Amino acid sequence: MPAAIQELQIQRDAPINTWFKVGGGAQRLAHPQDPGQIQQCLEIDPALRVLGSGANLIVDDDGVDELVVALDASHWKRAEIDPQSEHVHAGAGADLARLILDCQRAGLAGLENLGGVPASLGGAIRMNAGGRFGEIADYVHAVHAMNRSGTFLEIPSDQIRFGYRTSGLDDLIITGVDLKLHRDDPPAIRQRLLSIMQEKKTSQPMGSNCAGCCFKNPTLDQDVDSIGQAGQRVSAGLVIDRAGSKGTRSGGAQVSTKHANFITAERHANARDVIQLIEQVKARVADAFGIALQTEIDIWESCQ
Ligand SMILES: Cc1cc2nc3c(=O)[nH]c(=O)nc-3n(C[C@H](O)[C@H](O)[C@H](O)COP(=O)(O)OP(=O)(O)OC[C@H]3O[C@@H](n4cnc5c(N)ncnc54)[C@H](O)[C@@H]3O)c2cc1C
Repeated sequence: MPAAIQELQIQRDAPINTWFKVGGGAQRLAHPQDPGQIQQCLEIDPALRVLGSGANLIVDDDGVDELVVALDASHWKRAEIDPQSEHVHAGAGADLARLILDCQRAGLAGLENLGGVPASLGGAIRMNAGGRFGEIADYVHAVHAMNRSGTFLEIPSDQIRFGYRTSGLDDLIITGVDLKLHRDDPPAIRQRLLSIMQEKKTSQPMGSNCAGCCFKNPTLDQDVDSIGQAGQRVSAGLVIDRAGSKGTRSGGAQVSTKHANFITAERHANARDVIQLIEQVKARVADAFGIALQTEIDIWESCQ
């Protein structure tokens, strides 16, 4: 029996779930079941936005007008792990934490270096998620994606301009990824994962509503007293702390007292509080040191 062809599901006035737990929703939220339905979404709105797990995102309180596409159907969450060839093929909707554990159990190492990074695989690729233990680019063999004309592309990793929290794939809809890992003992991988998670627990405000590091670590244009030398990439948290912004607030948003590069949102906060606080921090750091901070988190602004 051929599988029943499901119609494209589009929810109206749907919330957009982000880790900040603030902000507006989508007038239209689509859940394509397969590649053909992504093409349908592109016909409806070529300027559509892709939602991953919302861990690096803040959405304006007024929501967004563009069609929002969530790759959360089972088709996009599938993962094939082959310990023999050390290759993993997974859909863009696969949950990174789940994949890290599945690879660990299968004796494939590498992804544990991304322990504690909440993400869909597509979002992790788009942001080149990572940190001081490594970044996802280190393990990418190829990315499968669709461009805005609805054409499928398979992009080998050496043609992707991965950089610090960037992939250069901003205009594409990432649909799947081939990863190349390496074999190791499952208990050894698990031990590394646990120690990375432990480190994050002690240094970051885990459990708060936030989107991880709010700003990219800046590279200094000139020597800055007690911060660093021209050309050096320095910790945004250190700069924000030294500028006196740690703990400062705007409404229900606060610069974390645990790690100054995290902005956390209380239950009564709204997106505007967070966005205003981002601007306050930027202005204070620019005043204090002449450093122009850039956000790492993605802000979806309303056209209204
Ligand atoms: C507690 C916490 C800790 C964190 N720690 C880290 C860390 O250590 N290192 C780090 O790098 N990040 C960290 N982050 C940020 C976040 O986990 C990463 O940026 C992650 O890659 C976001 O993935 P996502 O699926 O949630 O993407 P989303 O937040 O949903 O989207 C982010 C951007 O990617 C785009 N996108 C998502 N999916 C696709 C797709 N399939 N195709 C095309 N574009 C897509 C979206 O349109 C958006 O522009 C942290 C966040 C939290 C909440």
